[in-house]
Amino acid sequence: MLHAETIQSLKAGLRGQVIEPGDAEYEAARKVHNGMIDRRPRLIVRCADVADVMAAVKFARENQVLVSIRGGGHNAAGLGVCDDGLVIDLSPMRYTQVDPGSRTVRVGGGCTWGDVDHATHAFGLAVPSGIIATTGVGGLTLGGGIGHLTRRCGLTIDNLIGADLVLADGSFVTASASEHPDLFWAIRGGGGNFGVVTSFVFRAHPVHTNYAGPMLWELEDGPKMLRWYRDFIRQAPDELNGFFAFLVVPPGPPFPEHLHLRKMCGVVWCYAGGLEQGEAALRPVREMFPPALDLCGPIPHPVMQSMFDALYTPGMQWYWKADFVNEINDDAIEAHMRHARQMPNLFSTMHLYPINGAAARVASSDTAWSYRGATWAEVIVGVDPDAANRDMIVNWARSYWNELHPYSAGGAYVNFMMDEGEERVKATYRDNYPRLAAVKARYDPGNFFRVNQNIRPQAE
Ligand SMILES: Cc1cc2nc3c(=O)[nH]c(=O)nc-3n(C[C@H](O)[C@H](O)[C@H](O)COP(=O)(O)OP(=O)(O)OC[C@H]3O[C@@H](n4cnc5c(N)ncnc54)[C@H](O)[C@@H]3O)c2cc1C
Repeated sequence: MLHAETIQSLKAGLRGQVIEPGDAEYEAARKVHNGMIDRRPRLIVRCADVADVMAAVKFARENQVLVSIRGGGHNAAGLGVCDDGLVIDLSPMRYTQVDPGSRTVRVGGGCTWGDVDHATHAFGLAVPSGIIATTGVGGLTLGGGIGHLTRRCGLTIDNLIGADLVLADGSFVTASASEHPDLFWAIRGGGGNFGVVTSFVFRAHPVHTNYAGPMLWELEDGPKMLRWYRDFIRQAPDELNGFFAFLVVPPGPPFPEHLHLRKMCGVVWCYAGGLEQGEAALRPVREMFPPALDLCGPIPHPVMQSMFDALYTPGMQWYWKADFVNEINDDAIEAHMRHARQMPNLFSTMHLYPINGAAARVASSDTAWSYRGATWAEVIVGVDPDAANRDMIVNWARSYWNELHPYSAGGAYVNFMMDEGEERVKATYRDNYPRLAAVKARYDPGNFFRVNQNIRPQAE
């Protein structure tokens, strides 16, 4: 039980705002991207700077209050918010500082990827991230980061040079290859288990205008296209990324009317390495399998990054199921087709993100992110704007996943998982789990940061 004067003393020491139940902003401030999540924190601390983060950690520790850390609020399981606890909301800490000379960018812990893309694009640079610009830098990075530049530049964590953190004891450290290297290893894939990251420093790459966009084919061409894609992407040049999808065509521009609301299969391409080279890389597929819709062409990187933002607006119901996949055999393709034909609505979809290329050339033990040998991160999402359709999307995603899981590699990408329990987290980190547990024991022995895909502290 927190007394009013205790909360008042917290407020008095902060630059940022403290929001409590009953405050006008409370209902909006507790919402996250996934409308299925309905948590009621006791306090939401909107941190203005590192000092505020330190004060919030100290306050929570002294008053034994549960803590969650909120970056962009996109997490599938809603791990940015907690019931009855204190939310360390980093959303005011949205600054970016590009150093074009060293091709690095410092990013505040509350930034979205849209913030970063905007800042870096002016210098003809980009940091590998995801496929939606409204996603938070914090959660996406700490879980790994898969997106349009994965095959060329690696995961987001492969481009992380350092991070500043406030630890569970309230102290401030920098983690990098030379400072707290064990912590630096753990935060590259180990999620928000180790501290509040107040800023990240990334390596940026010369990327400006890509040859990119979706190509769609008839759903019944799915088996043929998926067979072709699974072989093609293994030997494609690193510059070419392409994730495979079963989807329903949105009923509006740029999609032609005759395709509206049709179930189709497709690949969203992104060639980052020259427009002519990109056109040449995709010529064979255009010739062999002329797409029903081809929106691939020159596109500025930030436009590519935000292409799907308007489709996936905040507050919809999201149910996520995921796996890593090494092989897609013909039986798996049949199972995919059975569930693709039953896609329940416009927003629900299945994506296969390639994690080969540059991402696969990092050893599994070099960072906490274990599944470097898998070829794809598969995700099945049931998504609907209406809570009344919750069962429909959950049932579809679950039965799709249940049938495909036997063909998977075992674990799943932490950022595509909901709350699936400790065994699933262990299956995801595999051999890296004991080392993660040991780092956790060193930096957070009391499991203060436990609203996450939790790694239990366990000394070596
Ligand atoms: C529409 C959509 C599209 C997506 N696309 C992709 C994609 O293309 N590629 C991909 O890899 N992932 C993708 N994701 C998944 C995304 O990576 C995760 O949802 C991620 O957790 C989001 O991070 P966040 O900061 O927005 O989330 P939050 O909900 O704010 O936080 C998620 C977790 O990260 C921790 N955390 C966040 N910020 C910090 C910080 N600064 N310090 C310490 N811990 C922190 C929190 O404790 C929490 O456990 C997508 C998600 C959505 C909803």
